[in-house]
Amino acid sequence: MAILEEPIKEVVTLKNFIDGEWVESKGEIRDVVNPATGKTIAKVPISTKDEIDAAVKAAQAAFPDWRRTTPLARSRCLFRLKELLEEHFEEVSRIQTQEHGKTIDESRGETRRGIENVEVACGIPTLMQGYFSEDIASGIDEWVIPTPLGVFGIIAPFNFPFMIPLWSAPYALATGNCIVVKPSSEVPNSHTRLAELAEEAAFPPGVWNVVHGGRTVVNRMLDHPDIVGITFVGSTPTARDVIYSRCGATGKRVIAQGGAKNFMTIMPDANVSATIPALMTSFFGNTGQRCLSGAVLVIVGDDRFYNNFMDAVTDMASKIIIGYGLDESVQMGPVRDKEKKENILGYIESGIQQGAKLRLDGRGKVKIAGDYPQTYFLGPTIFENVTPDMKIGGEEIFGPVMSVMRAKNLDEAIEISNANPFGNGNAIFTSSGKSAREFQYRITSGNVGINVGIVAPMAFFPFSGMKDSFFGILHTQGQEAVRFFTESKVVIQRWL
Ligand code: NAD
Repeated sequence: MAILEEPIKEVVTLKNFIDGEWVESKGEIRDVVNPATGKTIAKVPISTKDEIDAAVKAAQAAFPDWRRTTPLARSRCLFRLKELLEEHFEEVSRIQTQEHGKTIDESRGETRRGIENVEVACGIPTLMQGYFSEDIASGIDEWVIPTPLGVFGIIAPFNFPFMIPLWSAPYALATGNCIVVKPSSEVPNSHTRLAELAEEAAFPPGVWNVVHGGRTVVNRMLDHPDIVGITFVGSTPTARDVIYSRCGATGKRVIAQGGAKNFMTIMPDANVSATIPALMTSFFGNTGQRCLSGAVLVIVGDDRFYNNFMDAVTDMASKIIIGYGLDESVQMGPVRDKEKKENILGYIESGIQQGAKLRLDGRGKVKIAGDYPQTYFLGPTIFENVTPDMKIGGEEIFGPVMSVMRAKNLDEAIEISNANPFGNGNAIFTSSGKSAREFQYRITSGNVGINVGIVAPMAFFPFSGMKDSFFGILHTQGQEAVRFFTESKVVIQRWL
């Protein structure tokens, strides 16, 4: 099928966005490669400490006026941004596919979820209301005012370059704070385009800043005395050992969302024909590079049920069309880069070494729709006879690999899932309300699917997580984000 037009047509070096100006960085420059074509599509700077300092200074200077801007006026900026995002919906979606590799439908889904967060934050005049008690003592009243705090840092991972900063940014801005965003340097174009549209939406200079880069920028954000809080999404070692621990040490409020290993339980009374397509998107959607991807399939049932189910799963997985995501017939794109592919191949090798049975092998020459280099592509891979102590049974692979385990009953399936240190997303497929309730009651995971693959929570619900998948108290999105980005100021007044 024809390839949709690529929105990024020439290779330019991206700039930082500081105080309303697009500024060249003095840092080292790296290539951004389209993983489907192998072509360089942009150059990204790895910014310096001085550059992040300049962005924080601009944000700090913009804060007093932005804080005094009424919530209604702040929400008008968000309404304008929402309109611009709708207008550029297809373009920003295609940028995601071009730089990340996901299919165009996956990118459109990501754009939609991002916009929904902007829409929810538009309701800030009501979302940010305080509360009031009359006569806490005779002639004395008491009330709470949710108050913005200053400058927040937003640090993003590579797998959802457009949507993830929008889990935080609209709420931080709507509540009257200013932000400095550090996108993943692997996929910096999506957020750059978003910031250009924010500029067009007329957020005042310094309110929304973008600094490209890596650890130097993150470390400075964590230590900077004028950054009051951080939202982070990425792997567990970074979330826990770098972000959460350093924010604790420097007294910043923090949301640190980490990695995942998601278990999906299939009960023998599941509706098989509805379940299998849901499993395909769960395990192989975004080429397995989602924090809510299915990772382990736990099947309860006798040999007959198991064999029929696995035949159908393998058949459907082997028919997934792989290629460049700008071809609308493609169902799975490449892995984001060579290093990530090597990492996934290492896990597949370990599964073989540790005695799992390779039922579908995605290695070797991948059948690709179109003429693209093999460098970044992998086919869906399925392992059976996996045990929790194997690396593929316990660790996050972040690729299109399904590990299958069997359980005698629901109790054992829940025990297997809960024994894993991660707690991001788990799902059950069953037609029994009793089993579904028992599962959601006992499962130690922040996001739970019942007869759906693990889908991202809507923007007006928190993006949750437990155990090694989440470090903090409040979550991104919706009401919890509004609370995270504000402090409750309590006022008591005797009326004289
Ligand atoms: P990552 O931890 O490697 O990087 C995330 C961000 O942190 C990037 O901006 C990177 O530049 C920075 N960074 C990385 N290592 C650092 C260090 N040592 N010091 C300072 N900064 C550092 O994560 P990634 O590979 O970009 O993203 C994939 C991971 O994100 C997966 O583990 C996935 O499960 C997780 N994720 C979690 C959620 C969630 O909601 N829980 C959502 C999406 C992705």
